[in-house]
Amino acid sequence: DDVAGPPDPDLSTDPGAEGAATPPVVAVVGRPNVGKSTLVNRILGRREAVVQDVPGVTRDRVSYDATWSGRDFVLVDTGGWAPDAEGMAAQIAEQAELAIATADAVVFVVDATVGTLDTDEAVVRVLRRSRKPVVLAANKVDDQRSEAEAASMWNLGLGEPHPVSALHGRGSGDLLDAILEALPEAPRSTEPVVGGPRRVAIVGRPNVGKSSLLNKVAGRQRSVVDNAAGTTVDPVDELVEVDGVVYRFIDTAGIRRRVKEASGHEYYASLRTQAAIERAEVCVVVVDASEPLTEQDLRILTSVEETGRALLIAFNKWDLTDEERRRYLGREMERDLVQFGWAEHVNISALTGRHVDRLGPAIEQALAGWETRVSTGKLNAFLGRLVAAHPHPVRGGKQPRILFGTQAQTAPPTFVLFTSGTLEAGYLRFVERRLREEFGFVGSPVHLQVRARE
Ligand code: GDP
Ligand code: GDP
Repeated sequence: DDVAGPPDPDLSTDPGAEGAATPPVVAVVGRPNVGKSTLVNRILGRREAVVQDVPGVTRDRVSYDATWSGRDFVLVDTGGWAPDAEGMAAQIAEQAELAIATADAVVFVVDATVGTLDTDEAVVRVLRRSRKPVVLAANKVDDQRSEAEAASMWNLGLGEPHPVSALHGRGSGDLLDAILEALPEAPRSTEPVVGGPRRVAIVGRPNVGKSSLLNKVAGRQRSVVDNAAGTTVDPVDELVEVDGVVYRFIDTAGIRRRVKEASGHEYYASLRTQAAIERAEVCVVVVDASEPLTEQDLRILTSVEETGRALLIAFNKWDLTDEERRRYLGREMERDLVQFGWAEHVNISALTGRHVDRLGPAIEQALAGWETRVSTGKLNAFLGRLVAAHPHPVRGGKQPRILFGTQAQTAPPTFVLFTSGTLEAGYLRFVERRLREEFGFVGSPVHLQVRARE
């Protein structure tokens, strides 16, 4: 019989194609007009440096592939963003916080000809907190004379200022060397941090009721003080006790503070959402049950699945739904949400408190599904039965076949199937459905990887 021998020894550390190394991310931050965009263009080696002097110019693309000394990285440009004059420092800090959260290293640009301003200081505070490697670029040092001004930037306490002229290119090679040096050896991991209170992210498009829900959950239960024993809490997180269990709610600052996004900056909203999803173990995606599902709802759900986090869908504003709306919602779910059929739904009202008490148990269930481990013996007994009862259809005179499988990872459950020939997508979906019927995984994505022998 062709049931295979032991799996490759490197299985547990090699997540397969999905885990292919992604280039590190470098964010360029600083207040407006210091020359961020000019610097980005310089690094990308673009001649046409499309820097605009017009305030309020927004570009839709903000991240670019870059290479220096044979190393690839992604450059995130936070320029081209015009905050309102009012509350500018806070907005810049906020924007920087977002960019920094998703970066491996940060280039902090200051204008050496102007010196540092309050708005620079606001970013410096964010940088200190982030503990990400920072390269300080003292820009607009167009000639030798201005080097002294660059040196005065030591006072920011961010280490050596690198004098550079983004406009003319002076010093840009040295700056790039410093950036590469600052990058961690391994790219930023999107694996959740384990240990400590479980991390929960409440995410969803604007106005679905995220902050109302958080207030309901945290308000009723005692909100735990930040310095609970043995825990360090990011200032944007909050420890909240639900049914006697303490959870770390991610990025609650962003939910509570009505983040004033400058118009047209959905990009930052989605960056914030993605950062929260990556930091979480389980995501509560809030949708407004009283309105039709939107593309944005589906994008957020898809992002949770692709990032591999446990998922719970909260249909909020249930108090606003009538018979007809609920019927229609049922149809929408069959049409648009089938691919998330494995996630638990709760129909809640953050306003009245309806069924909010179901969140705790549903979160626990999703985490349990996410961490389910199936022994290789049980898995292969199951696969053997499955293949015998439902063989893959014959294609071109050949019959692809699952030979052996193993669970390479939990959180989320990730299976590697060794096969002869290539399995069709439909057959893989069938295998996933059967795996779920057999082993559960409620509330968790299940990832299948195939290694064809031949
Ligand atoms: P951002 O708002 O931080 O992205 O800044 P920009 O890249 O749009 O630059 C703001 C202004 O500073 C533009 O007029 C640039 O031409 C100018 N600028 C940028 N870098 C330099 C530089 O190295 N030297 C000089 N003299 N001007 C610069
Ligand atoms: P967020 O932008 O997702 O944080 O949404 P908010 O929590 O600020 O809520 C947006 C609006 O919806 C506010 O006016 C809330 O009072 C209202 N809202 C939130 N939850 C409910 C609910 O369950 N029922 C009703 N009727 N209104 C709600």
